[in-house]
Amino acid sequence: MFRATEAKVKGSMTGAVSGGSGIFLTFDDGPDPVWTPRVLEALRLADARATFFVIAPLARRFPRLISEMQNAGHAIGLHCARHVRHTQMTREEVEADVHSGLGDLEHLGITSRLWRPPWGILAPWTAAVAEDFGLTLTPWTADTHDWRGDNARAMFEAVSPALGPDAVVLMHDGLGPGARRSNCGETVRLVGPLVEQARSLGCEPAAMNADTAAALAKAAS
Ligand SMILES: [Zn+2]
Repeated sequence: MFRATEAKVKGSMTGAVSGGSGIFLTFDDGPDPVWTPRVLEALRLADARATFFVIAPLARRFPRLISEMQNAGHAIGLHCARHVRHTQMTREEVEADVHSGLGDLEHLGITSRLWRPPWGILAPWTAAVAEDFGLTLTPWTADTHDWRGDNARAMFEAVSPALGPDAVVLMHDGLGPGARRSNCGETVRLVGPLVEQARSLGCEPAAMNADTAAALAKAAS
């Protein structure tokens, strides 16, 4: 178990969205056949709910993992079809990407209104695309930077001050482009301590829905 050296809530997080008692663990870049099951197991052991922003073609390739997420009460949002920065795509290309990604999810029986684009990078028109598709852009407030390859203890120390009501924690259950690590083992190790720390602050890890995502986005803007 890790101990936080400091635990304080950022000023921007009022807890208004979740009634002061919710925290949102989020995972991007999956599903991954090796690491997603281990993340799911860590969440199961902690009896915690989370939200997965999936890469749609991987979701179609590994549908059983998507079913396991749903059966465990986790939420699923769209990350992308192609993991490319919106600033490096045309609006039409992003629209096609979203259309394709949502189609893949619908094929799996998922209608999601949650969207977190690659790297969280938005083009000037990304918000308009989200509105056109009825999607809510979902930011984060606490970045574990787990893709860099830090160990779980270092990530826990770094992210603990940002935990609190309505915090949205960014992690990854897959190895996206630019990842500087060969596996997601330290993310798996981080889940239990994060959940325990959140609960010590009176926050229960919850799955997002469109209403909470919209309220979080509004609070962050
Ligand atoms: Zn990503």
